[in-house]
Amino acid sequence: MVTIEKGERGGDGRVLNASRRESGTGSLPPGIRPAQRVSLFLVSHHIQTPYSIPVYDLMHRPGEMREKSLDVAEPEGFGNAVIGVRQGTNVHVDARLESLHDGILASVEVKTVAEGECVRCLIDVKVPVKVEFQELFAYSFDEAFDYMVHDDHVDLEPVVRDAVVLSLPFQPVCQEDCLGLCPECGVRLLDNPGHEHEAPVDPRWAALSTLAEQPGLEGLNDESEEKR
Ligand SMILES: [Zn+2]
Ligand SMILES: [Zn+2]
Repeated sequence: MVTIEKGERGGDGRVLNASRRESGTGSLPPGIRPAQRVSLFLVSHHIQTPYSIPVYDLMHRPGEMREKSLDVAEPEGFGNAVIGVRQGTNVHVDARLESLHDGILASVEVKTVAEGECVRCLIDVKVPVKVEFQELFAYSFDEAFDYMVHDDHVDLEPVVRDAVVLSLPFQPVCQEDCLGLCPECGVRLLDNPGHEHEAPVDPRWAALSTLAEQPGLEGLNDESEEKR
């Protein structure tokens, strides 16, 4: 994705996008080589997103600075396999935009909420997300920078999503001491503090009951009740 963005050029982008609209069904118009197909898609995706901020007033005026906040209803949703920001969730963006010699430096703080399932007990969890980053949007193609100013705008969408995804937990839990599910019957153990079975068959429980004093499982459960 990054490589393709580097290859984008404002003028080409508009031409390619126009061709795509005319083609309608998505088949390539004559004269467009398959190698252009990918950038054609991404350019059209890039043209306007709710995370785009106009920077015309800052461009080529080193030293100028402006702040801008956005509240975006996330249009698609994004995340990893177990947790993510769902479609429609509010993503609050505070951006400070500074004009530098080579481009626009965006210092960004993002606040939103990610939703997923506790990996131990499978109930829904909501995880508040707050993440900060900086990214330079170059005026012209430069290998040193991954992003560019397009049509007098900086589009924060890809950098906001990347930063949020990187901050998400790989193993979200409803609470740090979540006990998970009973391996024998599947009830959520935090909801059933006195939960026990006559003859535990799971080897993990068998091992625990030999460690605990009489009467085994009951001792463990009493302990978790006291914590409440
Ligand atoms: Zn849990
Ligand atoms: Zn059980």
